Amino acid sequence: MKIIEKAPAKINLGLDTPRRYDDQSPEWNMVMTSIDLADYVSVETIPGNPKIEVYTNSGFLPNDQRNLAYQAVHILRTRFHQTDGVVVQISKKIPVAAGLGGGSSDAAAVLRALNQIWKLGLSLKELAKLALTIDSDVPYCIYSQTAHVTGHGEIVTPIENFPHFPIVVAKPKLSVSTPTILKQIDYTQVQHIDIDRLVTAINSGTTAEIFASMGNVLEPITAAKYPEIDNLKTQMLKLGADTAQMSGTGPTMFAICEKLSRAKRLTNSLRGFCSEVYLVRSL
Ligand code: ATP
Repeated sequence: MKIIEKAPAKINLGLDTPRRYDDQSPEWNMVMTSIDLADYVSVETIPGNPKIEVYTNSGFLPNDQRNLAYQAVHILRTRFHQTDGVVVQISKKIPVAAGLGGGSSDAAAVLRALNQIWKLGLSLKELAKLALTIDSDVPYCIYSQTAHVTGHGEIVTPIENFPHFPIVVAKPKLSVSTPTILKQIDYTQVQHIDIDRLVTAINSGTTAEIFASMGNVLEPITAAKYPEIDNLKTQMLKLGADTAQMSGTGPTMFAICEKLSRAKRLTNSLRGFCSEVYLVRSL
């Protein structure tokens, strides 16, 4: 049996970390939303051949157990004693290592698809719990809708009402290592983001308050290493964005414009000096 799942990219509207756990991983307090920039993940089960095969249209992604989609098959198959072989084909559209959660979303798409194919009957909450063993963003990607995300990433509380704003996503030509940025968080210096205020603003639908309460505590860390981040943000705001912010550990920046006409102008202007620019909407 074969299922094709959409695997949307995520952006962080709010990203804060209150502390490190004893294992040194950060505790998260985030608001995430998904956008209509997506990979397509085809998942096919092959009875009688126990192999896991992963194919992508990207030349530089691993096809073995280092691929998060491969790990998703392995975890679910082992946990539920399934014997089918699985072939995963990923059509990549989401830029890799960009702070857009592409690998996590592919893994979540595989978990959703296999839950259906193998008729496991797992709820989204149960899938999210399993997903955490792959990566901290995978539980959110199981839901792929605006949500408040806490804990290690496994506590996902959907938030309704986030407006379908036009969003301009731009990835500078930089490679940012997530573990390197996370290691650099100095908890004595963090200017915390008021995530509760952001959640309340989204719930009440007050656009100005949503923009005023957004923020990403990792942005100053990545920007200190890569000045391109601040330059891009300055350009976005100068060219008419209502707000602009880094997603995840970067380097992707996104700008939100209330008006589509302004978002279109911004997209065209940014294409002049940034090679990867996408005009999208939140899902
Ligand atoms: P994170 O912040 O979780 O590191 P990201 O959004 O910045 O994620 P991804 O596109 O998920 O970036 O890629 C992060 C790393 O995961 C890359 O080094 C990549 O090789 C690896 N990876 C494994 N599987 C995938 C996949 N299916 N798609 C993209 N990257 C993958």
